[in-house]
Amino acid sequence: METSYLQKTPTSLQLHNEAKQFIPGGVTANIKFFAPYPIVMNRAGGAYLYDVDQNPYIDYNLCYGALILGHGNERVTAAVREQLATMGTTIFGTPHRLETEMAKLLIDLYPGIESVRYTNSGLEATLLAIRLATAWTGRKKLAKFEGHYHGGYDQVLISVHPSERERNHPPAVKPDSLGLPDYYTENTVVLPFNDLEQTAEILKKHRHEIAAVILEPVQGGYLPPDLAFLRGVRELTKEYGMVLIFDEVKTGFRVGLSGAQGRYGVTPDLTALGKVLGGGFPIGAVGGQREIMELCSPARGADILSNDPHQSSPSDTEILFHSGTYNGHPMILAAGLATIRSLQQPGTYAQLEEGTMKLRRGMEEILDRFGIPGHTVGEGSIFNIVLADQRVKQIQDVLRSDLSLRKELDVALLSQGIYIKPLNRFSLSTAHRSEVIHETLERFEQGVKRLAK
Ligand code: PLP
Repeated sequence: METSYLQKTPTSLQLHNEAKQFIPGGVTANIKFFAPYPIVMNRAGGAYLYDVDQNPYIDYNLCYGALILGHGNERVTAAVREQLATMGTTIFGTPHRLETEMAKLLIDLYPGIESVRYTNSGLEATLLAIRLATAWTGRKKLAKFEGHYHGGYDQVLISVHPSERERNHPPAVKPDSLGLPDYYTENTVVLPFNDLEQTAEILKKHRHEIAAVILEPVQGGYLPPDLAFLRGVRELTKEYGMVLIFDEVKTGFRVGLSGAQGRYGVTPDLTALGKVLGGGFPIGAVGGQREIMELCSPARGADILSNDPHQSSPSDTEILFHSGTYNGHPMILAAGLATIRSLQQPGTYAQLEEGTMKLRRGMEEILDRFGIPGHTVGEGSIFNIVLADQRVKQIQDVLRSDLSLRKELDVALLSQGIYIKPLNRFSLSTAHRSEVIHETLERFEQGVKRLAK
């Protein structure tokens, strides 16, 4: 295996070994780990990351897609500085203007959003959306798709990383973590993505029990939906009185200003947003049909004290609880608003997608030239490399591709100064201009050449 990045990152190794003594695995999120040790970064700018040994990398991780304008975008950093200076504090802990300004913008852009609540992460956004759906329908089961990630909590850490199965077998309900109570596996129904026939069969079977169907409209941000499938899921959920939740934490502002619902013309009942929305700061949001969203309104004629989690009053059960010390953080909303306004500049998405396609075609040509069977698959400015002859439509196809060769490729790319988290997808930003893409393809060719040896 090509491992030369190990030779040029001695300080990363040293810092990782130190971190391991104080932090489990030396990482603060499991996703940050890869073997034998993750590279420790020190600074960044535009499309580039620089590690603690001063090695430069062209960044295709971009904080898992969040940094659509690249690192240190001038407009975003200026908005944050200005917000801090104007406020005279870091946070008010009260309502403020930017909360409504952002809500109006989201309502304007997203067909499925009539009303908005903020959270501190994508995880919290999907959690709130599911709670709303459960309260709205009075049912307790959740239907989710195999391979779809909605954050790291009990209810949705199921069958995100499935085992291989026969195509005609229904997906299994498989817990993805230690410590998950049986309640969740017992009340989760797992569906196969892009397989309308099997999905319809399973939904029909559980039609009186399922509160919500949640999905990533583009799985993992790179596996696009068949339009007929997405429309079919919309129709079925409507027919069975289930709430359709689009988890657009990844696709929101990525596949277009109006997310996947704008791109495909299919409108969910509830939408979860995150990542790009915070301009590189932690945020999430839930938006959706006004009547459903109003379930969490403390102004519904109820005792206002019932919003206090320590206060038990009869009205506690009449309102859907949603709170958070940092919800609607003004600094983060300022960064998010600056990000969205930059994205609203005419031609931004066309340039992003043009660059992405140029990179994808270039990579495919290089793989082909070196006799490595593979192709790219993606939507908008996110894609993945799949080392398989056949086109992929769902997680099972990806599991059947050559994942160990893909890991070798990723390590070879790290050694060439292309930063991606091994086995993860590639995200581009507006800072990935044509000269950066040209440089990436040169480095990619070097990486593939070593692999093919
Ligand atoms: N939903 C999707 C589709 C995601 O990709 C992610 C994060 O990767 C989440 C939810 C969770 O978001 P966060 O990491 O902000 O909690």
